[in-house]
Amino acid sequence: MSFADLGLSPELMRAVGESGYDTPTPIQKGAIPSVLMGKDLIGIAQTGTGKTAAFVLPMIDILGEGRSRARMPRSLILEPTRELAVQVSENFEKYGKYHKLSMALLIGGVQMGDQVKALEKGVDVLIATPGRLKDLFERGKILLTGCELLVIDEADRMLDMGFIPDIEEICSKLPKSRQTLLFSATMPPPIQKLGAKFLTDPKRIEV
Ligand code: AMP
Repeated sequence: MSFADLGLSPELMRAVGESGYDTPTPIQKGAIPSVLMGKDLIGIAQTGTGKTAAFVLPMIDILGEGRSRARMPRSLILEPTRELAVQVSENFEKYGKYHKLSMALLIGGVQMGDQVKALEKGVDVLIATPGRLKDLFERGKILLTGCELLVIDEADRMLDMGFIPDIEEICSKLPKSRQTLLFSATMPPPIQKLGAKFLTDPKRIEV
C-alpha cells in the first residue's frame, strides 16, 4: 500500500513526497482512511511509529482551505509538553505547505501577547498544551464551539502529568458533533475511561 491509496489530496501527496517518504507506516495505513471518513479513532502507538503524520495528514485534508474566524479555531491538537507541541507544529508546517491553513502554537513559558494576536486573527489549527489553553480560555480569548476536530496526543503522558481533569474540561466545551482522535502508547484504565466518555464508536488501531 502506498500513500496514493490512502485517499489524500494531490497537494498533500506532493508535500509527503518532498518529505522523502514513499511508504506509509502501519499506524498511517490504519488511521488515515478512516479519519478521512470522519470516524473517531483510538491509536495505540509509541513515538517513532509515524503517528504524528497519521493525524496531521488527514487533518490538513479535512480542513482543506483556510477559513478561520476570530477566536474560533476549527481544530485542536493537545500535547503534554511544549517540546511535543513544537514538533507537531513543525510537522504541520511541512505537510501543510500547499494548503492555506493558519496555525497557532499555545504553549507555556512564552509571552501570551503573540498567541492572543494569532487567536484574534483566527486560526484553523490550534496546537496547545492543556495549561496554556485553559488559561487563555478562561481569559475569554478562545471559543471552542467551532472546533470540529480534536486530537488528544500522548494521552498516557497527559495522565502521568495530571492533565486529565483539564482535558475533560476542554472536551466538554467542544461541540458534541466533533471528530475525536486519541493516541496513547499504553491504555491504562483512566485513558480507557476518557476514550469511552469522549469518543463515539471509535476505530481502534494498535501497532
Ligand atoms: P513520530 O512517530 O510521528 O514521532 O514519527 C517518527 C519519525 O518517523 C519522524 O522523524 C517522521 O518524520 C518519520 N516518518 C513519519 N512517517 C514516515 C514514513 N511514512 N516513512 C518514513 N518515515 C516517516
